[in-house]
Amino acid sequence: MSATPRKDPVAVEAEVREKIHLEILKRTGAYHANDHVLLPSGQHTTEYIEKTLVTMEPSFTEGLGAVIAKHFAQWPVDVVLSTGPGALILSHCVARAHPSRPVVVYGTKGLSGGKRRVSLPVEFQRLIRPSSKVLLVEDLVSTGSTLNLLINLVEQLGAQVVGVGCLWRRTSVDLSGRPVFSLVSRDFPTYDPDACPLCKKGVPLNEEFVRRRHARRPSSIQEPKAP
Ligand SMILES: [Zn+2]
Repeated sequence: MSATPRKDPVAVEAEVREKIHLEILKRTGAYHANDHVLLPSGQHTTEYIEKTLVTMEPSFTEGLGAVIAKHFAQWPVDVVLSTGPGALILSHCVARAHPSRPVVVYGTKGLSGGKRRVSLPVEFQRLIRPSSKVLLVEDLVSTGSTLNLLINLVEQLGAQVVGVGCLWRRTSVDLSGRPVFSLVSRDFPTYDPDACPLCKKGVPLNEEFVRRRHARRPSSIQEPKAP
């Protein structure tokens, strides 16, 4: 009789970490699992994450940031760089918990000629120098296009990317071979409606997320026009 082969301890640790963090994301209301969800693309899936809600609970975000900081604690970091509101909140928490006491800077996202673009405000430019060690932080990485722009931006300034820390990363994302640490590494299986196993089983389709996008508008207010 042969003994059950022991699992790789690193893989076990990653699995446990992922379970804990999925629970945390569930408690924030950002992560929905075991569902049958209609995506904006028209495809169906079993899991869904609402990006805006991920960094809503300060104590959770601080805890998640501290785990990322601990992973990168063995490397000196001068600057934590991110872009986007959720990533910026998380990057503050990572920087606060990192022993090097790095500064926090952020790029601004925009479009130029139909192409995505990230710019670093001029006030921050003196902080990313050729000798700087930069840790990139992102909340959710789905295509990696924003992070790849940040990597290019740092390298263009002659600085070095120490690594990438994020809450959630789709496993298929390629980040030019940079060391990536994510609390959750997971792809959602998505199905065309014709081939969806949940439709075949007759599970009711949850259209809430798509409906919400169409039916609700963000609250906004504007200054009155000058008379
Ligand atoms: Zn379906």
